[in-house]
Amino acid sequence: MSAAAENIAHAMSRLALYWRAAGWRAAGAQGLTPTQAEILSQLAAGPLRSGDLARGLGVSAPTLTDAVSTLAAKGLVERRPDPQDRRAARVALTPQGAGAEARLPDMPEAIAPVLDGLSEPDRAGLLRGLTLVIRGLQEAGAIPVQRMCLTCRHFRPHAHDDAARPHHCAFVDAAFGDAALRLACADHGEAAEEERALALARFAAVA
Ligand code: SF4
Repeated sequence: MSAAAENIAHAMSRLALYWRAAGWRAAGAQGLTPTQAEILSQLAAGPLRSGDLARGLGVSAPTLTDAVSTLAAKGLVERRPDPQDRRAARVALTPQGAGAEARLPDMPEAIAPVLDGLSEPDRAGLLRGLTLVIRGLQEAGAIPVQRMCLTCRHFRPHAHDDAARPHHCAFVDAAFGDAALRLACADHGEAAEEERALALARFAAVA
């Protein structure tokens, strides 16, 4: 590993420690475990099957089942029939669960002013780099696949000559820049493996 890569890994580890501790505090303030809080956050975009929830959280099926059962006993989630499969069910937020989710902070309080204080090029560069790191970890099977631009069939990297907004989202038919790359997009559509590889190669090749 290069010295630069080692420094980045160290910085990420420091951030992860801070993020985890803040997450524990925020979830605990609502009487939730971090896993339960994360389930509420994942369901904010809509009901999900248990398998998709477990994959998104990177937890085992029994861990997910326990957490969902506890949340259901608290009246925060419920199981609903899956409209696409009569034998399956989806987990959904109840109105109380939606209220609890809305009270959970999106991020540690101190981070927003720090990120807002970065210059636009620094923010765009950071997001671009993080997007590539996350995609690499997904490729390695180390973390679950996210609903991110780099895995989306609507993503057209470097489709425009405009340096500020080189990418194109075919879903909303609009150009956008690195600073607007999405990591959890509700409109995401999973691209085929070959499409994903081509998009990654094109995105990574042009700095
Ligand atoms: S639909 Fe969302 S994830 Fe897909 S390219 Fe557009 S912004 Fe990115």
